[in-house]
Amino acid sequence: MHLDTSISLFKKGEKHLVGSVNSPVRAFKSVGGVPVFIDHAKGSKIVDADGNSYVDLVLSYGPMILGHRHPKVERSIKKAMKKGYSFGASTQGEIKLAKLVCEAFPGMDKVRFVNSGTEAVLSAIRLARAFTGKNKIIKFSGCYHGHSDALLVAAGSGLATLSLPGSKGVPDEAVKNTLIAEFNNLESVKKHLDNHQDIAAVIIEPIAGNMGVIEPAQEFIQGLRALTRKHDILLIADEVMTGFRSKFGGAQELLGIEADITCLGKVIGGGFPVGAYGAREEIMQMVAPLGQMYQAGTLSGNPIAMACGMATLKELKKQDPYKSFNKKAVKIKEMLIKSAEANGIDLQVNHFGSMINPFFTREKVIDFKSAQTSDTEQFKIFFWEMMENGVFLPPSQFEAWFLSSALNKNDLKTIENAINISMSAVAAKTKNAK
Ligand SMILES: *Cc1c(COP(=O)(O)O)cnc(C)c1O
Repeated sequence: MHLDTSISLFKKGEKHLVGSVNSPVRAFKSVGGVPVFIDHAKGSKIVDADGNSYVDLVLSYGPMILGHRHPKVERSIKKAMKKGYSFGASTQGEIKLAKLVCEAFPGMDKVRFVNSGTEAVLSAIRLARAFTGKNKIIKFSGCYHGHSDALLVAAGSGLATLSLPGSKGVPDEAVKNTLIAEFNNLESVKKHLDNHQDIAAVIIEPIAGNMGVIEPAQEFIQGLRALTRKHDILLIADEVMTGFRSKFGGAQELLGIEADITCLGKVIGGGFPVGAYGAREEIMQMVAPLGQMYQAGTLSGNPIAMACGMATLKELKKQDPYKSFNKKAVKIKEMLIKSAEANGIDLQVNHFGSMINPFFTREKVIDFKSAQTSDTEQFKIFFWEMMENGVFLPPSQFEAWFLSSALNKNDLKTIENAINISMSAVAAKTKNAK
């Protein structure tokens, strides 16, 4: 596989861009080598600057659920562009998308569009504080909620439980109201409730996707809902990743819970920068201009982004690919397990709908700690072999693989072939090392 053009672009980019990327997840830090530069994509495939074509299981970290450049979506974007790009005033597209989103989420009467998942979550936290008049929030270790100060704790570090900032530049004061609990561990939440009066909200990825894919146990998620209700604490479901991913609507419905505030992003923009937060009437009444909680955005509800989101969701509703997603995910899971067994490699595979994650570990992965037992050296070998054999994966053991409705039988064959070659490479290279 030639990556000469990517390598030279990377070097060029380093001069004026930080690490030659605009988001650190795109750097290949944990797998080594140079990040691949993309030239174009269509359907299930993505093509890099050297002309290598891959089956895309990154899908822009989720948004490209229909595959790239779906004809109907492309048509809608082009049509919207002819009218202008941004007006600083309301357009009909915002009303249409709001209606579609609110109808898909029970318990969401009103929605506010923003420009990213980060913005959706930080606004939802502000809203929860405004509504309850309380300050503290509980988040779970290993869950990622964007890069706002208060939430950059335990978004991936061992210092997690100490409520220390996970990034330089975040003052201790910014995270002193953030309490950390353990995913799938209700006791760790109860402990905080016993010790603190001032808790406004608990925020959770209902299906964790940012420490790898991890499902909540039913007792845990139901217990969390009951507990927060009992204590008059709002439950915030961060569905930035899971929204419209595993059903038309949210993971909450699949799990049988209803959060007080829901955060969205990724899929709802269909590849354009859109985020959203929504809740029942009574809560949304707090948001300006109706209420006293201020939140604004020059480009929020951008007409091109709304057109792309609308066309994506409409097509998604029409295709209803969720059963087929599940079937394909199960197939890929079986390929992984079979191949790992044949090569004597310890592997756990978690999947939820169209999100899937192999962990190179013997331990069942149920929380951040067990996810951390994964052998990232094995993943590194696996990753590069998959790339060599035509499958574009997120360059991290802890990022979910995503499926698109454009993924076809041939792609599945490519994936199967790549998995078999990659697993045996992992086995061969691991043995050599020992
Ligand atoms: C991606 C993600 C975010 C952040 O969204 P951005 O658009 O990257 O700011 C927040 N929460 C979850 C669960 C996510 O997966």
